Amino acid sequence: MIADILIVGAGFAGAVIARQLADSGRFNVKVIDRRDHIAGNAHDPINPDLNLRVHQYGPHIFHTNDQRIFDYLSRFTEWLPYRHQVQAWVDDVGYVPLPINRTTINRIYRQSLYDEEAVKVFLSTLRIPNENPSNARQVAENVFGPDLTELFFGRYTRKMWDLDLTELPAEVLKRLPIRYDDNADYFNDSIQAMPADGYIGLFKKLLDHPAISIVLNCEFDKAMEHEYFHVFNSMPIDVYFDECFGRLPYRSIKFEHQLMPEHSQPTPTINFTDDGCYTRQTDWRLYPGCNLGAEHVLLTKEMPCRDEDNRFERYYPVKTVSGEPQQLYKRYKAKAEQLKHMTFIGRCGQYIYYDMHQVVANSLKIAQVFLERAS
Ligand code: UDP
Repeated sequence: MIADILIVGAGFAGAVIARQLADSGRFNVKVIDRRDHIAGNAHDPINPDLNLRVHQYGPHIFHTNDQRIFDYLSRFTEWLPYRHQVQAWVDDVGYVPLPINRTTINRIYRQSLYDEEAVKVFLSTLRIPNENPSNARQVAENVFGPDLTELFFGRYTRKMWDLDLTELPAEVLKRLPIRYDDNADYFNDSIQAMPADGYIGLFKKLLDHPAISIVLNCEFDKAMEHEYFHVFNSMPIDVYFDECFGRLPYRSIKFEHQLMPEHSQPTPTINFTDDGCYTRQTDWRLYPGCNLGAEHVLLTKEMPCRDEDNRFERYYPVKTVSGEPQQLYKRYKAKAEQLKHMTFIGRCGQYIYYDMHQVVANSLKIAQVFLERAS
């Protein structure tokens, strides 16, 4: 018998599960999305007037160390080589590589430290050693000391999370590599690339299966769930339960677009670590696969904000050192575990600050376990 599955959300979490279940030959899968497009926050349509591909929800750079995940996605896309680099603008200094590396330190402190050892010795005069950092400030100060920490992470984190570094869990800053050499890559991952036909191209192929149907502009309604053998749901878990325990906090982003005749910046995205309101600025021409003959420059600035009154999209689950949001999530999770016909997936369903490769890995696992149990 072929059973019917409902998937709420056509982002990475839902689309990978849809594909795996469809490929098994045992399920018909209906994917719904409240937005008018597939690909979730990776949606990157071409702007036909500008001949630019623009990531509508901010730049998404694919990176992973997991060859298996890369091979899986490579069934659905060709790739363009790209290793992500970012520079930060520092007043009175100019652009410097981020994550902090030897060049960054030499430029900020007007030094000429010539090798990794010299950088380590220099930083040893600044750092506040801490073998077991319990918040993001301690993580950064353990390596860089208080001044560099505030310059590159303190102010950025305040606007990004509306939190002081002491309130931000250590693991958030541990996303960034620590460098003493001149490597200017933003990520350490061995595999980094951009999909050749955009994430849209990747998702079109991922969801292109006779057993998958897609309905866009379709809001999930609880009345739907009883018509299906199982529901995989990427909607915010607190919203599903009518926020009965309270609202899970998220950060959102407002985007400001600006057309310019000309512009120059050293990397496709630059970071603002000052105390202004913007965190990043992207020049879309500079990402591989995004410049399709553009004659103008489109700059997009990001301004983090709260997701007040559901007016903005949820981007980042906010975890704090106090653990309050995490405790709140646990209450929703316990409630969700009683629903045998539903599995919550993705950033908003699982309240996890996932990268794309992580959400793909998680969805492959969820699909595999489901297929084993359902056999
Ligand atoms: N961060 C920072 N300064 C920067 C870049 C990052 O303080 O210039 C901190 C900030 O708290 C941020 C975290 O490091 O939220 C993780 O950065 P990442 O670039 O991984 O964030 P994402 O790309 O997911 O927004």
